[in-house]
Amino acid sequence: MNPQEAFCPNIDCPARGQIGKAYITIHSQKEQSFMCSVCQQTFTTTKGTLFYRLHEDARTVLVVIALLAYGCPLQAIVQTFGLGTSAPCGIGGNPPGNRGKPCN
Ligand SMILES: [Zn+2]
Repeated sequence: MNPQEAFCPNIDCPARGQIGKAYITIHSQKEQSFMCSVCQQTFTTTKGTLFYRLHEDARTVLVVIALLAYGCPLQAIVQTFGLGTSAPCGIGGNPPGNRGKPCN
């Protein structure tokens, strides 16, 4: 967690997008969050990334994406990683007429 590599993601902040200007400080190590000294807003290290508000382990998500990219069947991934099947999937296994329904 290095504030020198982070930037403020607040669209209304004049310091938005500026890296290494010392505007960003660590707000919470435990929650992995930074604070912008210009707009006083806090944000997590994952804001604006694939991992923002993710409840699964980031490494697991990366592995699942790689497996999907290489054509691994969705059901095999669900079984291997013990992922729930009640959520709508829309990626991979469901045919176009079945999008938004649980994977089967
Ligand atoms: Zn800011």
